[in-house]
Amino acid sequence: MTATRRPSGGATGPSRGDSDPIARLSRRPHRRYNPLLDEWLLVSSDRTRRPWQGRQEPPPPGPVEQYDPACFLCPGNQRANGAANPDYASTFVFTNDFAALRPDAPEERLEDGLLRAEVEAGTCRVLCFSRRHDLTLARMERPEVRTVVDLWADQTAELGDRFQWVQVFENRGEMMGASNPHPHGQIWAGSALPHEAAREDATQRAYDGEHGRRLLLDYATQEAGGPRVVVEDDDWLVAVPFWAAWPYETLLIAKRPVERLPGLDDAARDSLAGNLIALLGSYDRLFGLSFPYSMGWHQAPFRGRSEEHWQLHAHFFPPLLTANVRKFMVGYELLAETQRDLTAEVAAERLRAALARPEPTRTGEAAARA
Ligand SMILES: [Zn+2]
Ligand SMILES: [Zn+2]
Repeated sequence: MTATRRPSGGATGPSRGDSDPIARLSRRPHRRYNPLLDEWLLVSSDRTRRPWQGRQEPPPPGPVEQYDPACFLCPGNQRANGAANPDYASTFVFTNDFAALRPDAPEERLEDGLLRAEVEAGTCRVLCFSRRHDLTLARMERPEVRTVVDLWADQTAELGDRFQWVQVFENRGEMMGASNPHPHGQIWAGSALPHEAAREDATQRAYDGEHGRRLLLDYATQEAGGPRVVVEDDDWLVAVPFWAAWPYETLLIAKRPVERLPGLDDAARDSLAGNLIALLGSYDRLFGLSFPYSMGWHQAPFRGRSEEHWQLHAHFFPPLLTANVRKFMVGYELLAETQRDLTAEVAAERLRAALARPEPTRTGEAAARA
């Protein structure tokens, strides 16, 4: 096991001279290519200076109690459908009482000219990360986060026996639609390959076919030690991807060939726990508040054949541009292509600086919110 380390990034910041093509490009609106989704996006860093008179996000709610009698995820409490949670000690999994997918779906298909539809079978589970209502992954101890990693892996293996696609994800914070602060994530597993998965499957397969190597392993090698890295060690690299769409989006890539979470060895699971705490801690310290985000794992589909073009990775999509202004994906994004306001290099530099700051006490967090 190796300690999580940060790259210096000092010599490669955006203030580099004219010899650096990225620094030159970053001074003017430019487009960047996302090889994983085979799409381009617009980067216009000057726009961060524009006056903002739009929506201001309210500060997140203040500190919460360790146990909330009204929470439907706390140990021993009753859920909305009347079922009672066990008095669980660390993690707890249950099938979503209001699932978007159901396993007992009959096969049915519609093909009528341009109208096509098919029944989708699947299941949705809720994963409680801790019995403590007041914690977040960022503020849990490393062995506790390791338990969550093992849970993600075990659930993936079990659901992969029955479903082609296993989507592990977490919506954190009210801004991302998580109305309950209790630390929890979800797994949706389904019989079809969803749209984003199919796109990444195709790009990774094409790259492997052309180069005989995994796209994301080559990307991790190219980024290692560079200006977009937030944290890395021998097993993992966390970077603001060159093609990031959200202001502080990050991509976490396993550095050794591995297709899915269950394939991670003991050391990689341990170091993953450390890297998750580091990354999410840097998010929380960036604006001195519990940072909202959607995160999720992308792992090879389960379809009974070799998937050696796939490399295990996780995406983190936090919506905030500043402490109280969020990025909206609206007009140009919906109609033309994604546009971002600060460069990936600047975002990574700020996250590294936040990571270097001392961990705030809970009173400190409250003060920052006030
Ligand atoms: Zn709770
Ligand atoms: Zn992905």
